[in-house]
Amino acid sequence: MLTGQNVLVTGATGGIGQAIVERVAALGAHPVIHYVQNVSAAEELLSRIGKKGTVVQADLSDAGGATELWEKSVSHRGRIHGLVNNAGIRATSRIEDSLAEWQRAWEDDLRINLLAPADICRVAIGHFRQYGGGRIVNIASRAAQRGYTEDHMPYGASKAGLINLTKSIARNFGKDGVVAIAIAPGFVRTKMAEEFMREKGREAVVGDIPVGEMVEPAEVADLVAFSLLETQRSLSGATLDLNGASYIR
Ligand code: NAD
Repeated sequence: MLTGQNVLVTGATGGIGQAIVERVAALGAHPVIHYVQNVSAAEELLSRIGKKGTVVQADLSDAGGATELWEKSVSHRGRIHGLVNNAGIRATSRIEDSLAEWQRAWEDDLRINLLAPADICRVAIGHFRQYGGGRIVNIASRAAQRGYTEDHMPYGASKAGLINLTKSIARNFGKDGVVAIAIAPGFVRTKMAEEFMREKGREAVVGDIPVGEMVEPAEVADLVAFSLLETQRSLSGATLDLNGASYIR
């Protein structure tokens, strides 16, 4: 159970974010529901969990956005026990693009998928130290491990950076009670994956998945909830693969 835990979920109005919020709330946590633009989706989600959560806005593409998000969450809840870095984007970029377009895609993906989580981890670690511990769950991707398609290379690289950041946090701040875990899903049945399936076809998505289906958002949410359990201290530093046997390390 997660009773009494305040858990900040970034990008909470997205497909996976909503499932995470619903799951941790069902286990007794108080989710801090982060959104960037879609306030009505955030409020609908809050209603679905019986209003037992807090809604917070921040744009993670701003250099100060991640720090501001953490500060707002602390000002609402006092202590935060868990941070789930779930917000993410996947820009399109091709080697045929102009240098400016290419660089823009790399900068955008790195900003949202790696630099914003790094900024928020920085302040979260300081906070967790003050309270004797806390948990960070970073939503990475299978793309981090096996590489990605030619038009989304920055995405895979940004998620690989996120896994490495998770390992460094686990190794350096375990002594302060900080537990850090990465989750690396393959295709999850959300808008992002459905858009990819529309572009590339169903075979490109499920063709190499031995279990024959995409990951369900609820499967990711279950693993996040498990990672937030206080009993799971020695899991720190792990990357949890969730890909239907499509990439086995
Ligand atoms: P989604 O597009 O539904 O959700 C992404 C969330 O990130 C949204 O809530 C969005 O508002 C937020 N976000 C985007 N830009 C932002 C910004 N500038 N500031 C603040 N928030 C911003 O996608 P999803 O499928 O739910 O993905 C959630 C996470 O899971 C992402 O990190 C994604 O990379 C990862 N992931 C997804 C899949 C998949 O197949 N869907 C697979 C592996 C990993």
